[in-house]
Amino acid sequence: MPDDCIFCKIVNGDIPAERVYEDEETLAFRDINPAAPVHVLVIPKRHIATAVDAGGPDAPLLGKLVLAANAVARQEGIAGEGARYVFNVNRGAGQEVFHIHLHVLGGRPFSWPPG
Ligand code: 5GP
Ligand code: ZN
Repeated sequence: MPDDCIFCKIVNGDIPAERVYEDEETLAFRDINPAAPVHVLVIPKRHIATAVDAGGPDAPLLGKLVLAANAVARQEGIAGEGARYVFNVNRGAGQEVFHIHLHVLGGRPFSWPPG
């Protein structure tokens, strides 16, 4: 784990976060600057910098991120009405925190294509 990774620090409890879901390998917590009424970040506890760095051995973990996102979406009541799951991959797409995270957004309409 890089010493300066804020999401590793959230996993370790060194930085507080409002946790909404947790299992052995994943953690979900509310985004500090929400872009929708529901905005939760789902992360693996193990550090991976960005989605494009994930390889074959990470496939089960990536699947677990989606299952954790589903649990969050159901818990938050947005699974039926419509939710958006987003990986921003690298800076050009807006990635600012380099510990892979799946944004789970809901509670408002979403347009397509995204901005
Ligand atoms: P990115 O732009 O990398 O895809 O998304 C990073 C997200 O992390 C942003 O939506 C930002 O608001 C959120 N974020 C950054 N620092 C913290 C923090 O310390 N705590 C929480 N809960 N969210 C954070
Ligand atoms: Zn990390």
